[in-house]
Amino acid sequence: MGLMPALFASVDLGGTNIACAMAGADGPIAAERTVPTASQEGPAAVLERIAALVLELAAETGQAPEGLGMGVPGLVDRASGTVRFLPNFPGQWRGVPAGEALAARLGCPVRLLNDVRTATLGELVYGRGRDMADMVFFALGTGVGGGIVLDGKLRLGPLGAAGELGHQTVAPDGPLCGCGNRGCLETLASGPAIAAEGVRLLLSGQAPALQRLTAGRPGAVTPREMAAAAEAGDAAVREAILRAAGYLGIGVANVVTALHPQLVVLGGGVAAIGPLLLDEVRSTVRRRVRMFPAESVCIERSTLGEKAGIWGGIALAARNGIV
Ligand SMILES: [Zn+2]
Repeated sequence: MGLMPALFASVDLGGTNIACAMAGADGPIAAERTVPTASQEGPAAVLERIAALVLELAAETGQAPEGLGMGVPGLVDRASGTVRFLPNFPGQWRGVPAGEALAARLGCPVRLLNDVRTATLGELVYGRGRDMADMVFFALGTGVGGGIVLDGKLRLGPLGAAGELGHQTVAPDGPLCGCGNRGCLETLASGPAIAAEGVRLLLSGQAPALQRLTAGRPGAVTPREMAAAAEAGDAAVREAILRAAGYLGIGVANVVTALHPQLVVLGGGVAAIGPLLLDEVRSTVRRRVRMFPAESVCIERSTLGEKAGIWGGIALAARNGIV
């Protein structure tokens, strides 16, 4: 019998689902499963569901995990594994020693990190960022999150909040953001921001292709459907996408000017718009970054897609000192 490589567990804790996987330090994924979070049941029930899920996958692979890395949609105290702030979860999560509780149940070390910073690690170790020392990740979904890697290290700052790239101001008098500021990148280039403009165009009769593709249902309007409508000839929808991409380009240009990374990775559902978005971001960055040749900065769509968080958890568990 050959020596079995060590397996590590990863959890991506989301508002809707808990995704879990087990994998070797260099892959591949040995087992994975997703269950509903049911966050309304509170912290103890959610943590118990996570532990049960990891134990289930451990039984399936026949191996106990050597460690668990978990991405959490909020802020955590990394040293103690305690939750500081989970904005979208009901119940009293502040101060919950999630890392300690899971380590006791699973019998292995547990590391917690913000979910988008965890996804950034996934991109760095297993995605486009392999062999890159300086990389920036934009997660373009319901919100806009980010992560910054400099000199091969994820930068977290004193609260783990460094890299909130979606909350940089790109339009001084822009829409009010959930964070309290006005004109954050998130208010202009998140999935809901882009889709809201698509719905307006649909309801005002300016988007015949989108009308066809969504059967006229506002709830079916997504950035991906809008990209298809633009491709099919909806000029107003195309303009709406380019406008959002222009704001995203400003956000990327600001970060490129500040940090001069080798690579900018765009992930999340909005990145699924594809070349229409990517080309506009690239040309905006070329136009607005003037202090050094921005052609050397690669701006690419994520290859890991929604699996970036799961891979990041494996990196977090398997690689000592990566953060
Ligand atoms: Zn904001």
